[in-house]
Amino acid sequence: MNWITRLIKIGDKIKTNFKKKMATKAEQLKSPYMSCHGQPILKKIIKENNYVCPECNEHHKLEPHQYYDDIFFGKGKYEEIKSPIPFEDVLGWKDTKKYTDRLATAKKLSGLECGILSVKGKLRDIDVVMSCQSWSFIAGSVSMPEGENVLTAVERCLTEKLPYIFIAKSSGMRMMTNNLSLSQMPRMALAINELKKAKLPFICIVTSPTTGGTSASIVPLADVIIAESKKAIYGFAGKRIVANTENKPLNDDFQTAEWAQENGQIDIILDRKDLKDKIYKLLSILLKKKSEVNLDLSNETSEPNIQTREAS
Ligand SMILES: [Zn+2]
Repeated sequence: MNWITRLIKIGDKIKTNFKKKMATKAEQLKSPYMSCHGQPILKKIIKENNYVCPECNEHHKLEPHQYYDDIFFGKGKYEEIKSPIPFEDVLGWKDTKKYTDRLATAKKLSGLECGILSVKGKLRDIDVVMSCQSWSFIAGSVSMPEGENVLTAVERCLTEKLPYIFIAKSSGMRMMTNNLSLSQMPRMALAINELKKAKLPFICIVTSPTTGGTSASIVPLADVIIAESKKAIYGFAGKRIVANTENKPLNDDFQTAEWAQENGQIDIILDRKDLKDKIYKLLSILLKKKSEVNLDLSNETSEPNIQTREAS
């Protein structure tokens, strides 16, 4: 046995030992603990705090139903806005798995028909339409059904003269449908422009991570862009790709919500617990309701631009 073979054997031994220590997904689901800030923490504690860690303020990912049930409307107090589901596997895509198999898993994991769930609900006395992306559905990626869903939600806003709120959490456009998913970017942008022509408010909530085509289409068109937590990741290409392209190291805070706010891409940063109240106050002003005109944003680092941005 030479020294190379010996090294390989040692490496294999280390790998085996590491594998033994890693909990399986099933074990992780069963356990009352989860990992946060490098420590185990009781899931119960995180859940009671809207999935925000009370020790490090990490905002753990929420699915659309959780935002609607626990943060904005209450269980059963909203109406789902259904949209058509076009045939999806137009390219017969297969990578390490068939696209059709990925879709089946995504539907099972998220309990949704597509990667966006849109609903109509009431924020106190203001009726709103809200859409939310699901990370469980192929990392919040956008393809034809998701584009259709946004269009259907915006049509509802136009018909009933309602404000629109979009909760973004996305890896971008879905590569398995290639140009057809990319074409959802202008489709969504055109739909948002119709909202603007009708002078209906559009608020976007950036949750972590929001990247790729989603951050380059629907999100920057919002009248007010709110980031959920200071550490939310918001950018187009990944940090490593940008660093390699520019051939220089990037600051630790690159593409965080705080960095994006300093660079004019985010208007307000809020903790999850404050989203409902502050959005209600913003809508009160944008809709010129007299009941709520005192916008208390003393904890934020900058004043928001509350004028509806004109369609371009
Ligand atoms: Zn934590």
